[in-house]
Amino acid sequence: MTRLRNIETLSNLLRSVILLSPDDLLCCVYLCLNQLGPAYQGLELGVGETVLMKAVAQATGRQLDKIKAEAQEKGDLGLVAESSRSNQRMMFAPASLNAAGVFNKLKEIGNMSGNSAMNKKIDIIKGLFVACRFSEARFIVRSLAGKLRIGLAEQSVLAALSQAVCLTPPGQEFPPSVIDAGKGMSTESRRAWLEEKALILKQTYCEMPNYDVIIPVLVKEGIDQLPKHCKLTPGVPLRPMLAHPTKGVGEVMKRFDEAAFTCEYKYDGERAQIHILENGEVRIFSRNQEDNTSKYPDIISRIPQVKKESVRCCVLDTEAVAWDREKKQIQPFQVLTTRKRKDVDASEIKVQVCVYAFDLLYLNGESLVREPLSRRRALLKESFVEKEGEFVFARSLDSDNTDTIAEFLEQSVRDSCEGLMVKTLEKDATYEIAKRSHNWLKLKKDYLEGVGDTMDLCVIGAYLGKGKRAGSYGGFLLACYDEENEEFQSVCKIGTGFKDEDLEQHYNFLKEHILPKPRPYYRVDQSAEPDVWLDAVQVWEVKCADLSLSPVYKAAMGLVDSEKGISLRFPRFLHIREDKKPEDATTGAQVTSTPQNTGHTVHNTPQRQSFR
Ligand code: ATP
Repeated sequence: MTRLRNIETLSNLLRSVILLSPDDLLCCVYLCLNQLGPAYQGLELGVGETVLMKAVAQATGRQLDKIKAEAQEKGDLGLVAESSRSNQRMMFAPASLNAAGVFNKLKEIGNMSGNSAMNKKIDIIKGLFVACRFSEARFIVRSLAGKLRIGLAEQSVLAALSQAVCLTPPGQEFPPSVIDAGKGMSTESRRAWLEEKALILKQTYCEMPNYDVIIPVLVKEGIDQLPKHCKLTPGVPLRPMLAHPTKGVGEVMKRFDEAAFTCEYKYDGERAQIHILENGEVRIFSRNQEDNTSKYPDIISRIPQVKKESVRCCVLDTEAVAWDREKKQIQPFQVLTTRKRKDVDASEIKVQVCVYAFDLLYLNGESLVREPLSRRRALLKESFVEKEGEFVFARSLDSDNTDTIAEFLEQSVRDSCEGLMVKTLEKDATYEIAKRSHNWLKLKKDYLEGVGDTMDLCVIGAYLGKGKRAGSYGGFLLACYDEENEEFQSVCKIGTGFKDEDLEQHYNFLKEHILPKPRPYYRVDQSAEPDVWLDAVQVWEVKCADLSLSPVYKAAMGLVDSEKGISLRFPRFLHIREDKKPEDATTGAQVTSTPQNTGHTVHNTPQRQSFR
């Protein structure tokens, strides 16, 4: 409910902006998201906490140590900045701030580089700061610290934006009749109408995640025209299609029933979305739409050899997998993680990769995401040639025979893969990005061996270590993400699976993210309260033996039991998921549907573990 109320509130704000100052809609959306531009362009403020404190100190005439000590105590430099303001006496009051002015200043800060950039940044921050009134300093400082977090994730901002432009269509005159275009509709039809329109915006955003492009179209042309004007474009990363876990070949057959499907090897590497631009440039993006181009100069240099001449521009979906050139075999995922992440020099590459291509999303000016996989795959194979150990099509088998599929699954594991991806070919076989569909199912060997799947959980607290672990953290509180309420729900304590180096690394990283009190969007029972609360900034991949119903943990509460949540039994730390943001953590609903080794039963036993 909170989420719906938040969406409503933000949508009302945006409706006022549309009416009173439509040109500010873009910067208001960016300010709400605490972003300077499209995430994939990676423009960041580059203002560290110390610099920010310096600016606050200089602008208020207070001493740096005092600011530091108070920030430590309050855990929020924004509050310190706000209360410090009153100490300042001004001769002339500067002009009050407005949304566009603040946003442009933030952008200016982000674009500064080179000599004395830091001092220039401090000057701009000071300029903003002295013009602050009321509680503005609190929010500007939080924005500068990248910790605005108003309890709204991107999906909610999208929902609020579409609701705003539907109810208050831009470009209209002021008569009250246009102030609520949904007036007169029944609650039910109004909800359905708003949801239908929100999907248009969300879908468009998946293919063109750039508000600089989308918002002017929304304002000028209206939401219905978005698909016509904002299309998938090589160079702009799109959200990747995700898969749904299944427990075995039997479940696959049941889910797909009569529909034709294909089974592909599920390679264990890193997703690589390869874009070939009209001008011949190649860009590579991660699962998270981060620009990995400079990580893979080797992949880029082989593109001309594997691409047929007919291909002018395209977007490929692939998995980059560590490859042993001598033995001609796939290497484990861990090997890939040792590869340098940025600005790789092709002559110094130690970990070679082979690209396994499994989809083609765009070809020569035509988006293929609405085409069935059978056509996308045929075009992929027509447009590229294989080169052993460098660029290969994902191995696949089109069969509906249970035994043949089971055999193929075994074979995939022998060939160092994680299992299979099973995909519909014709019916319901479009490339679905706005939601996790059931068109792709994953069938991992782990489910079959009864080891259970892994989960990606966010660290939200830590317990001080004792004995050997004294002086650092001995255990951690993990949470899954609930999309509906946009909250992190505690799911287990974890204290196993860590090497000494891991604990040291976690301590050094996490101690920088301590919070004085839990975020309002953390759901944690008092009895599981950690010694220190941590900001939700890192996701860990964790393996567990089983699930149990728990009165203490809050994951998926309401989904399987009205009073109890789900907790993980015997969780083990595997590694950090650098490619997932906190909001990409496993959701409560996924926790309940993840195949576990006991054949999916949730045990009704309390969990008791000690981690110190
Ligand atoms: P998710 O991406 O579903 O949130 P995850 O990141 O843990 O979870 P997996 O459950 O391992 O990912 O499965 C999906 C990933 O498998 C894809 O993102 C892709 O990187 C990889 N993959 C390997 N082979 C294929 C294939 N043939 N088709 C699609 N994806 C594949």
